[in-house]
Amino acid sequence: MNENKNSLAGEIKYDDNVKRYDLSKPPVKQTKNVQRLTKLTSKALLPLIRKGHTIEKINMEGLEPPYILLANHMQFMDFPILFEAIHPHKMNLVAANHVYYKDYALLEKLGCMCTRKFTADLSLVRNCHTVLQDYGDVFAMFPEARYSPDGTQSVLPAAIGKLAKKNKVPVVVLLNHGNFLNQPFWSHYKFRKVPFYATMKQILTAEDVEKLSVDEINEVINEEFQYDDYKWQKDNNIRITEKYRADGIHRILYQCPNCMTEGKMTSSGICLSCKECGKKWEMTELGEMKALEGETEFSHVPDWYKWQRENVRKEILNGTYSYKDEVPVYGFPGVYKYIKLGKAKVSHDFQNGFVLTGHYNGHAYRIHKPVKSLYSLHIEYQFSHLKGVDCFELPTKQDSIYCIPTNSYIITKLALATEEAYKIANENGRD
Ligand SMILES: [Zn+2]
Repeated sequence: MNENKNSLAGEIKYDDNVKRYDLSKPPVKQTKNVQRLTKLTSKALLPLIRKGHTIEKINMEGLEPPYILLANHMQFMDFPILFEAIHPHKMNLVAANHVYYKDYALLEKLGCMCTRKFTADLSLVRNCHTVLQDYGDVFAMFPEARYSPDGTQSVLPAAIGKLAKKNKVPVVVLLNHGNFLNQPFWSHYKFRKVPFYATMKQILTAEDVEKLSVDEINEVINEEFQYDDYKWQKDNNIRITEKYRADGIHRILYQCPNCMTEGKMTSSGICLSCKECGKKWEMTELGEMKALEGETEFSHVPDWYKWQRENVRKEILNGTYSYKDEVPVYGFPGVYKYIKLGKAKVSHDFQNGFVLTGHYNGHAYRIHKPVKSLYSLHIEYQFSHLKGVDCFELPTKQDSIYCIPTNSYIITKLALATEEAYKIANENGRD
């Protein structure tokens, strides 16, 4: 009886006094004062990019809001660049709920719209309409909803095409370069000196949006939202001379292409090495990987990352992929506090997706995220909100649940497995 009850258990039962946050809150229209403040803040912050920054505007002449702006996002300096790029216009920006932690009052004043990553958020559709139609301002979002692990584009939500089509507005893409190289996601506490260069381009006019289907709009967006910071670095001969330039890269390059072992990679200074077979690679000043002895399997970091993705895909297809662990878990039902939930069992495979089971406050809970309910996974390296751990998030309608795996390398593999399993399930037309 109890077992049956447990298998039916759903969300975590928190104390009644746990404060939630209303994600459907309409965004505040930016006031003149707030706009002035963002301008001054940008002016003060941008000189901190020691090698300078450039924003090239393409097909933007005469463009007035309302429009949808899509940007890639790697780090804090993307905000002042965004503010400068859209000046003198006003905008409302979509921000993930964990960004609201401790700063919710400021973000509300700035006109941000809170959302939970990788969930179907209907209030976002409503808020988009409010910003574009009622306020007549810029609706801005980072559609990848994540920092890129390897400096290339991540998967984009298909909902963007619908937002554009429904609101009949132009679409603009702001692509930042250098921001990833300066502060790679896998080592975001150490800065590398590089110039920043962004392009701001109107990729679809209101007439284009009117004429094209939702699928065609998404196709254009996917084509235009392409970037590869390592290629950009090489093409522009940008030398990163810091002696710690490879420090942390094992977080994304977790599999050794020499002996195939996973989770035994380590990095320090300018080198990446495998603890299993001893092979060592150096990261050159131009961001290429070079084997110190023998064959260089992948000189381009995104190729190495892609190879790992292909391996995960093969595992899913041949039925050998599965992950099981017992992990410390934290709940984040509001935006105010991470709540320690003790340990829970978590598993991920192609049949069931993610299943998390545990007990809290005398109640069993079971969080189930089927493969087709999650097209990507929110992972964090050195997550400052949880004392610098590597972790992943399982989002539900009312909660964000953070899991800290025993072997931290697995979060990168889980992110790849989530995306590949989703793609395979859709290719197969699975329910
Ligand atoms: Zn090895």
